[in-house]
Amino acid sequence: MARIVIAGAGIGGLTAALCLHEKGFEVKVLEAVEELKPLGVGINVMPHASAVLHELGLGPVLDECAIRTRAIEYRTRFGQLIQSDPRNVEAGFIAPQYSVHRGELQFLLLDAVRSRVGEGAIETGWPVEGFSQTDDAVTVLCADGRSHEADILIGAEGLRSRVRHQLHPDEGPLCYEGTMMFRGAVETDMTGDGRTMIIAGNHDLKFVTYPISEKLRKKGRALTNWVAEVRHDKPRHIQDADWSRGVTIDFIKEFDRLQLPDVNVGEILRATENVTEYPMVDRDPLPFWSKGRVTLLGDAAHPMYPIGANGASQAIIDARVLADELARRPDATGLQSYEEIRRPLTTDVVLANRRGGPERVLDLADARVTGPDDRIEELITREELEQISSGYRNLAGFRKSR
Ligand SMILES: Cc1cc2nc3c(=O)[nH]c(=O)nc-3n(C[C@H](O)[C@H](O)[C@H](O)COP(=O)(O)OP(=O)(O)OC[C@H]3O[C@@H](n4cnc5c(N)ncnc54)[C@H](O)[C@@H]3O)c2cc1C
Repeated sequence: MARIVIAGAGIGGLTAALCLHEKGFEVKVLEAVEELKPLGVGINVMPHASAVLHELGLGPVLDECAIRTRAIEYRTRFGQLIQSDPRNVEAGFIAPQYSVHRGELQFLLLDAVRSRVGEGAIETGWPVEGFSQTDDAVTVLCADGRSHEADILIGAEGLRSRVRHQLHPDEGPLCYEGTMMFRGAVETDMTGDGRTMIIAGNHDLKFVTYPISEKLRKKGRALTNWVAEVRHDKPRHIQDADWSRGVTIDFIKEFDRLQLPDVNVGEILRATENVTEYPMVDRDPLPFWSKGRVTLLGDAAHPMYPIGANGASQAIIDARVLADELARRPDATGLQSYEEIRRPLTTDVVLANRRGGPERVLDLADARVTGPDDRIEELITREELEQISSGYRNLAGFRKSR
């Protein structure tokens, strides 16, 4: 069977390793960092992507640590409920949406790769620098001169993919949208049913919060993940987008303007020990992902704004489709058919996220609401809201099954 090297042991790379191993391929994952650590805070796995993880037999371990999200509630800056968008199996999705700590998700995938593919399947301290290829093989090149021969190389090294850079050397810098996202997670009392995601505010000032620990929920507490989004005239650290950059929080006062009756935003922000900042960045969709024996997957292929919470999900779907297509044709033509399926769909998601994705319901309401006593149902029709949310669900690929 073909030997496949995956560059990057992130969510996409590890899922690809599991899917490809299941199809009988010989898989090796090369990861840049010496020691993988459970980095990041909250991340969401949408129903269609969680179905992939369930098919891989990871449902039980996910259910131990991740929250089965019941719904996303969109609220105005005055706190009124605009729309409750259900995400659970009971609402007709094929699998649950999960909210989880990124590190926990990465480590459960890592454990599965090590136990199924083998301890030696992941080599850390192996920063992929580029590749060379012939008709017969691809040679993966390390920054320190080491090399590794394979039949196929998948660049899954995230936002700063070297494989992508070699395929598209003239690509410009990251595209910055003008919004800085401050992020953190803190243990709090449980809000409501402990399974609801809240997105409140507007394009200029937005607060997103959701619980990410099923273990704490079972004890009646919450690990409350939050993202505070602020528009800046001048970008901060844009040349250097880094998910782990710590900051002191000088933006709290701005969030006093948000009135959420059941969420004390200021208290959550002040109680959080580690706050990171990250600019809302993406890249223009690419004209091609694959060349010969090499292709891209996940953020390396289609980095997107985390609007609509689709980054991890689209990477997981890429992995599934790639393995299925390579199983049918284990060569460059399999990579081409993977790209033909996934590139147009993910291009649509990248572009839809630039237009606000499902969060456009916030701006629709914001343009019409004048104060806390306004009744949303008198300002916006259900049809207007459903058009936005079902339009995005269809585009991102997680239609209801009934
Ligand atoms: C440290 C970190 C923290 C994050 N935190 C969050 C978060 O809290 N919430 C959220 O929504 N998203 C977060 N993300 C992004 C999110 O994981 C991705 O958008 C999504 O899961 C798609 O995953 P991916 O596998 O394509 O890329 P990633 O998850 O970014 O994984 C890429 C992997 O490739 C490795 N790598 C990088 N360069 C090389 C190289 N040259 N050679 C070999 N390996 C390389 C990286 O170390 C990483 O392990 C984070 C990403 C990272 C890297």
